Amino acid sequence: MKAFHCQCGQAVFFDSSHCINCNSILGFDPVELEMRSLAQHGGPFFSDASGRQYRLCRNRIDYAVCNWLVPAGDDAQLCMACEFNRMIVNLAEPVNVRRWQRFETAKKRLFFTLLRLGVPLANGFDDPRDGLLFDFIEDQRSNPGQHPESFVNTGFHGGVITINALEADDSMRERVKSEMNETYRTLLGHLRHEAGHYYWPLLDADPDMRAQFSVTFGDPERDYQAALAAHYANGPSQGWRDHYISAYASAHPSEDWAETWGHYLHIYDALETAANSGAIDRSPDSVDIDTRISIWQRLSVALNELNRSSGLADAYPFVLNSAVAAKFRFVDEVIRRLRQRSPAAAGH
Ligand SMILES: [Zn+2]
Ligand SMILES: [Zn+2]
Ligand SMILES: [Zn+2]
Repeated sequence: MKAFHCQCGQAVFFDSSHCINCNSILGFDPVELEMRSLAQHGGPFFSDASGRQYRLCRNRIDYAVCNWLVPAGDDAQLCMACEFNRMIVNLAEPVNVRRWQRFETAKKRLFFTLLRLGVPLANGFDDPRDGLLFDFIEDQRSNPGQHPESFVNTGFHGGVITINALEADDSMRERVKSEMNETYRTLLGHLRHEAGHYYWPLLDADPDMRAQFSVTFGDPERDYQAALAAHYANGPSQGWRDHYISAYASAHPSEDWAETWGHYLHIYDALETAANSGAIDRSPDSVDIDTRISIWQRLSVALNELNRSSGLADAYPFVLNSAVAAKFRFVDEVIRRLRQRSPAAAGH
């Protein structure tokens, strides 16, 4: 993540909506990837000191769940990121507005990294064939008696990332984490992982690249249901740490791909944050993937030690060995190719 400042000089954050120093209204400009300090100047319009004009996203005006801006000349009601939502939770339940806000914060952080990487990012309403949509929905576990579905799986299918609202609820997510014996489970991590399932088919890889996928992760056509059933019944194979970034990655080649993709985004975002805060002296886009991995190995060990000093669990409980590094190189190549397909490639 970049470091942002209000026009008064105050450090502000990616999800800030007001400056605590000068009380300016803040909004994020997704075209320039910058935070703007705004003043209202008539009707729905806001402008910054340079005269750039915007409107606020409708989801901010109605629910305060979004701080992204709509260019004044654009007649959309929602910002570009909110336009990716197909279904959201029932907002008559106040707890759901808070869950939705967490979902939006995590989704926007995912989008920021995708925009920084310059990969294609179109919603499924504008581009029904290749676009992406999100369902953020409940099931009977979070809303007994109200919701028809007994069990909604977080996952990706047919261009839609589905996130169970429970994942935006800290206590419920922690319970699942402990039931499934996981060391790490976050809403943002889910979104990054599911984005991997979206981007691999989007690449429409050539035969060489498909062959390379199989060499790197295994045969993606392997029976998925059987592999997942075996994973949940028997747990990961012994020695999975020698080959996979996580136990779940060992369940199936497609899951290995999505896990690796998710970690690639995680590391990119974390290194960008570290560079912008002065903790490291090189930004991730100025170094190759191998250098990125070695910087992250050192930094993540320091992060884990800092967390232990605070009595907390490790911030990054994963090991990047040479087998995993080869998978990161493959993701890096896929991103390079996706960037070439992106109409916005010239902008970033
Ligand atoms: Zn300010
Ligand atoms: Zn919005
Ligand atoms: Zn998956």
